[in-house]
Amino acid sequence: MKAEETYFEPDFDGAGLSIVDSHTHLLPGRLAEKVRAFFDANMEGDLAYPLDHETILARLARAGIGTVWSLPYAHKPGVAAGMNASSAGIAARLAGNPVKVVGAGTVHPGDSDPAAIVREAREKYDLKVLKLHCSVGNFEADDPRLDRAWQYLAERRIPVIIHLGHAVSGHTTAAELLPLERVAQKFPQGRLIVAHCGHRAGPQVLDLIEKYPGVYADLTPVVTEPVELPPARVNQLAEKLLFGSDAPNTAVSAEQNLAHIHQFGLDEKAQAAILGATARRLLAEVI
Ligand SMILES: [Zn+2]
Repeated sequence: MKAEETYFEPDFDGAGLSIVDSHTHLLPGRLAEKVRAFFDANMEGDLAYPLDHETILARLARAGIGTVWSLPYAHKPGVAAGMNASSAGIAARLAGNPVKVVGAGTVHPGDSDPAAIVREAREKYDLKVLKLHCSVGNFEADDPRLDRAWQYLAERRIPVIIHLGHAVSGHTTAAELLPLERVAQKFPQGRLIVAHCGHRAGPQVLDLIEKYPGVYADLTPVVTEPVELPPARVNQLAEKLLFGSDAPNTAVSAEQNLAHIHQFGLDEKAQAAILGATARRLLAEVI
């Protein structure tokens, strides 16, 4: 086998399905179809996964993934509470699956009481992760209507995955990182995970990670593009980086994505951090 054909060996530490995929979307049927239609209309080529949850999980398990975080996101005011109930329901329905599903919640700044919605997500539905999508929801991370929600999320150490960019392509610019930086300054106890490492502003996101203890990033590809970063910096900051696939709405399979991370040439500790240890630690710290 030639070097470029060498795929990542998922069972590298002998722990079986040890990888945590902190960025998937196991959405309810009609919503999943709507999201898929958006991708079909806005991209060339094919996506790597079908929509059926069991099939997605079986395919991810084949790549060595043992846990997924499943992220819903509110596109408008008034829908987050229902999405959070549904997210908890999907995680419960999949409880017997060999791949563990960690359900996430969401909120929108236009909701009548965003803080009450995130409290309900945590305390009623036992959701330990939150997702915000600034382009789909058309808002900024530092929208003042989210302040009380941020306060609660920071107190409870709930990891919040935030898609910052507003482009239909899924890309983020350096200027779009500013609202996130303001949240990091205002709520230093918060756990902020920049989705897709803010690709194509990845190096600037690494600077924020280094500067703010509460800022993290996931290495989820942007539809067809793996996140490009300087390998030495990835190695250095691995304790604050998480693996993510974006299944089912990605053209990059988890295997290709793992091979991409493998080619950074990370040391064993950095690789273990990115492929699960960082995500497990964040979840364990949730109050
Ligand atoms: Zn995503």
